[in-house]
Amino acid sequence: MPRPSRRSRSLRRVHIRVPSGVSKLFYKKRKPQKAKCGKCGAVLQGVARERPTKMQNIPKSRKRPERKYGGVLCPSCTKRKIISEVRSK
Ligand SMILES: [Zn+2]
Repeated sequence: MPRPSRRSRSLRRVHIRVPSGVSKLFYKKRKPQKAKCGKCGAVLQGVARERPTKMQNIPKSRKRPERKYGGVLCPSCTKRKIISEVRSK
């Protein structure tokens, strides 16, 4: 029986093959929620979903799309936003 703190499902269970060749069970913290569009709430594609310490090692170009409002708005909301910005000038 695992110890009481590990019976909870707040930690995820990961099977990792250790150097000796046997598969061991490790308990790891869960990943954060998927990034959502700030306007319509749709799940954003191409946005990294990792814990902060791992995010530090990921290149900025792999964390969000490299366009205006990338990682903030979804493509259709971005399109509408850019059109409205141009028309308001
Ligand atoms: Zn949207």
